[in-house]
Amino acid sequence: MKSSKQKRLVIVGAGVSGLYLAYLLQEEFHITILEARERVGGRIFSIKGHDMGPSWVWPHHTEVLSLIEHLDLQLFRQYTKGYALYDVQGRVERFDTPASMPSFRVEGSLSTLISALHEKLQDVKLHCNESVEAIKVQQECVQVKTTKEVYESEIVISTLPPRLTAKLHFSPSLEESVLTRLKATQTWMGNSAKCVIEFKTAFWREKGLSGFTFSHIGPLGEIHDASTTNSAALFGFVNLHADMKNFTQNVKEQMIRLFDIDEEEIINIYLVDWKREVYTSVQEDAKSLSAHPQYGIDMSSYSHRVFFSATEFSYEEGGYIEGAIRQAKKISKEILIMSRV
Ligand SMILES: Cc1cc2nc3c(=O)[nH]c(=O)nc-3n(C[C@H](O)[C@H](O)[C@H](O)COP(=O)(O)OP(=O)(O)OC[C@H]3O[C@@H](n4cnc5c(N)ncnc54)[C@H](O)[C@@H]3O)c2cc1C
Repeated sequence: MKSSKQKRLVIVGAGVSGLYLAYLLQEEFHITILEARERVGGRIFSIKGHDMGPSWVWPHHTEVLSLIEHLDLQLFRQYTKGYALYDVQGRVERFDTPASMPSFRVEGSLSTLISALHEKLQDVKLHCNESVEAIKVQQECVQVKTTKEVYESEIVISTLPPRLTAKLHFSPSLEESVLTRLKATQTWMGNSAKCVIEFKTAFWREKGLSGFTFSHIGPLGEIHDASTTNSAALFGFVNLHADMKNFTQNVKEQMIRLFDIDEEEIINIYLVDWKREVYTSVQEDAKSLSAHPQYGIDMSSYSHRVFFSATEFSYEEGGYIEGAIRQAKKISKEILIMSRV
């Protein structure tokens, strides 16, 4: 019998799912990761140490917490001390910051989790700037066609969100019912735009404020403390119908209105509009959601050579990093069992 290390495995996408799968399976397979962007991390992305994608992990996200510990990364608690603000037409009110489940952030941003995982990969080939277009299952192998090349491999794992998966050309085709399910599954946070504002000082803390703000006016609808060891910062989710043409000026005006500060207090404003990130979301993702979707998609009927592993495919904690890690663990176990029989 062939030792499985002689087998090839292609992973499509180098987000946390793709990198963690490569980490789990690298002892057993010759792995190639194909990533469309010029960088790794997918939705986990930072600018100057500020999380522009996810920020938080929660105590019940036990798989992420153990991975963070395993990678020797440090956590700290989200700052929530002091009053919150409520921003409505004509007035700004203080209220008690709502008690919620404690959330934690990673020292140096969640991108350190991505770089730590990346550093643990040995003999794994990573090709960035290569967008996968087609997956063709053949008798002995699977062909993966990118914008640059065609790769052959015994096993393929796609880690694209469902709606991007539905855009790939599969041969044989996916069943119509599966395709419908993929197209109906919203990319988690694919409707969001996240803005980080760097300030000279964390003045709101001195004013007895937590930074948490709920605004009906915007452009930022929900604001939180985003300070790091080196920088005082707030982050906000941009309201879906915010005026993006005068965005920076409008954010400055909102900060001045909320906190009664001089404009000079603001050092930088960073924005990532995930609705416009073509390797994360599609146009239909731009709509708002009333609740966290019921994630989880069973793709096992497609082929014993092709697996699907983005967070939205997970029945447990789908949408979150935890879902990505749990699905990657599940898929890697299935592949290891299959390759050993
Ligand atoms: C603003 C925001 C806030 C969030 N907040 C939190 C939070 O606080 N806590 C939390 O747990 N989760 C949060 N999330 C969700 C979290 O980011 C995701 O659960 C997680 O990053 C998903 O990882 P993934 O690897 O499954 O998917 P992705 O990160 O989407 O990875 C998919 C990868 O595939 C690549 N790709 C796409 N198309 C192609 C193609 N055709 N060919 C090759 N490669 C391709 C992409 O570039 C990407 O690298 C947030 C997300 C966003 C955007």
